[in-house]
Amino acid sequence: MKHIGSFRESGYPVEKLELFRGADMQAAANALADCEVLELSAGEPIEDAVRARLYIVLSGMLEVEHDGHTGSADGNVTRILPGESVGEQSVLDDAANLDAVHAVEDTRLLVIESKLAWELIDHSNAVARNLLRLMSFRIRAANAMLRRRQKLGEFYRQLSLNDTLTGLYNRTWLADMLPKLVARARNQGSPLALLMVDLDNFKKFNDTHGHLVGDAALCAAANVIRDGLRPSDFAVRYGGEELMAVLPETNGELAHMVADRLCQKMREAVLFPDMRVPMPHLTACFGVAVLDPNGNETSLIEAADAALYRAKEAGRNCVSV
Ligand code: GH3
Ligand code: MG
Ligand code: MG
Repeated sequence: MKHIGSFRESGYPVEKLELFRGADMQAAANALADCEVLELSAGEPIEDAVRARLYIVLSGMLEVEHDGHTGSADGNVTRILPGESVGEQSVLDDAANLDAVHAVEDTRLLVIESKLAWELIDHSNAVARNLLRLMSFRIRAANAMLRRRQKLGEFYRQLSLNDTLTGLYNRTWLADMLPKLVARARNQGSPLALLMVDLDNFKKFNDTHGHLVGDAALCAAANVIRDGLRPSDFAVRYGGEELMAVLPETNGELAHMVADRLCQKMREAVLFPDMRVPMPHLTACFGVAVLDPNGNETSLIEAADAALYRAKEAGRNCVSV
């Protein structure tokens, strides 16, 4: 940072400074006359950004990186053009300015010390109004950035909890949610049922029709499960062609009925409505289990898995407990 001289010596017109829009220009010019002007080379940071001072860009351009973030991918960088300022907030609340500021190109800055900034505010309604408008603009921009980040965070969270092929919940979701559902069922003394579903002879289906058709069939099977459940139930892709339904507030008898209904819907499902060639239908096996009074998520899954194995043994396309 190089000291160039005073504002008076710079010959810069006060009219071009946003902060003084609508103010008495002669009074402003007099007040600013002895303020120092600094020069930053391209890429150079403002080294005393923690101090409560106001910097107004006279020429060139500054870049402010909020919260120490770099790069403008999430709109976290603000550019300050000639006539605009940085540091107002630090002057107003007397707190350190932790945002990193650097010059994008060779830049000249007018420095207004905090004491003088307050005198300008005290003496000019126009300066006070301009500052208020500027702060309001900054708050709006900060809020918009927060909302964008929140939305993005929610988007990625959703993405990480859902299976990309079928859209059902995935294992990450299950690992997080099943213990919670088990705990809730045990606390409330309410039943919790789990259906383990495995598509029948799916390897052969793939071998016959190809993997892509297999993928589409898997999606159709996932839809059968999802669409056949109550809104309070959860459909999960457990692994390859293994799906799962978690049924809160559901006893064994009811869960068996649900499984029977889903098993029938699966065998009746039209996999590819827009295809002329008749396609084979899919069937699946269903293992039904309910949470034991002393059970946990592991024992519940194991019980459903064992029941599923019995359904396969019984000849497939059926439900077992
Ligand atoms: P079973 O009736 O005993 O369950 O026989 P199966 O052929 O369904 O069982 P197996 O475990 O031998 O084979 C599972 C098949 O599921 C093999 C695998 O290629 C297929 N599969 C798993 N995930 C996917 C997938 O995402 N897409 C497709 N197209 N196939 C998958
Ligand atoms: Mg399997
Ligand atoms: Mg299978």
